[in-house]
Amino acid sequence: MRYDTAIIGTGPAGLEAAITLTIRKKSIILIGKKNSSNKVRSAEKIDNYLGIPAVSGDELARKMLDHAARMGVEITDGRVTLIYPYGEYFGIQCGEDMIEAKTVILATGVAPANTLPGENEFLGRGVSYCATCDAAMYKEKKAIVVSYSKDYEEEAEFLKKYAAEVVYIPMYKADSVNAEAGSSDLYGGLSSVPGITVMNAKPLEIKGGFKANTLVTDQGELQTDGIFILRDQISAASLVPGLETEGGNVKCQRDMSTSVPGLFAAGDIAGAPYQLIKAAGEGLTAALSAVKYLA
Ligand SMILES: Cc1cc2nc3c(=O)[nH]c(=O)nc-3n(C[C@H](O)[C@H](O)[C@H](O)COP(=O)(O)OP(=O)(O)OC[C@H]3O[C@@H](n4cnc5c(N)ncnc54)[C@H](O)[C@@H]3O)c2cc1C
Repeated sequence: MRYDTAIIGTGPAGLEAAITLTIRKKSIILIGKKNSSNKVRSAEKIDNYLGIPAVSGDELARKMLDHAARMGVEITDGRVTLIYPYGEYFGIQCGEDMIEAKTVILATGVAPANTLPGENEFLGRGVSYCATCDAAMYKEKKAIVVSYSKDYEEEAEFLKKYAAEVVYIPMYKADSVNAEAGSSDLYGGLSSVPGITVMNAKPLEIKGGFKANTLVTDQGELQTDGIFILRDQISAASLVPGLETEGGNVKCQRDMSTSVPGLFAAGDIAGAPYQLIKAAGEGLTAALSAVKYLA
């Protein structure tokens, strides 16, 4: 099936775009986290969202998800790692699936401020953002996973089914319940999987020849056949080859169109001010522009 629109991200921008397109009777796929956005959820008290004063981020996220569900919007739980613009349509890599859509709305929030030195240079040449997509290429090889969330522990375990050796570098705090209990099982049991080594180190740089072959860390240099960098946010330029960006944000027109025809952006990814109501408003504008483009 080829959707009218694929919306990437389930924060206020993505949810509002999904609601608007559903009202306009377009076929959509909304990809992201089922519980909306960690950024929204982490706000203690929000006072500037029109009509809902003094609301906690958690409650606002619940209200938004509830609203979307009532309108018939479904969330496909997943993380998009690459979007290929083919002219007539887009190919959207989500885990092992390739999804097709005539238009795309990028609503992925603020891009990571810092990528590792060498990360962009070696992307696709020994650096990957998706272990489930590329695991099969690491049969009998050595791989390093730099992981920014416990959500990716499963991906490392999946990778080990192919790779001979996996070094897992967590960039987040260990499970506090297990840590308090004095358990050594701090990273989803990864350290007890044969062939996986959990290493506490700070990655500093990726080096190599044609392909990446070394991760420089504060603990020394690690030789490898490949490096997986797993974080929720991927920079827009890495996500969509050829997309024009400015200071990490996607360059947009007032109708939220971008330099790639059929691709729209909304919310924090489209630039400051980084505010909820602006994100939701841009989600609506991007959706209406996609409707116009489809026509
Ligand atoms: C602590 C805190 C307090 C705040 N307080 C306020 C406030 O009081 N008022 C206010 O107006 N704003 C506030 N903000 C800012 C507000 O949260 C953001 O402006 C808003 O969430 C942006 O919405 P968004 O939809 O653009 O992106 P986000 O809310 O960041 O949502 C993006 C979603 O896309 C997902 N995603 C990213 N990449 C991918 C991918 N490749 N594939 C699939 N999904 C992906 C992310 O996981 C996330 O779920 C606060 C922010 C923080 C951190």
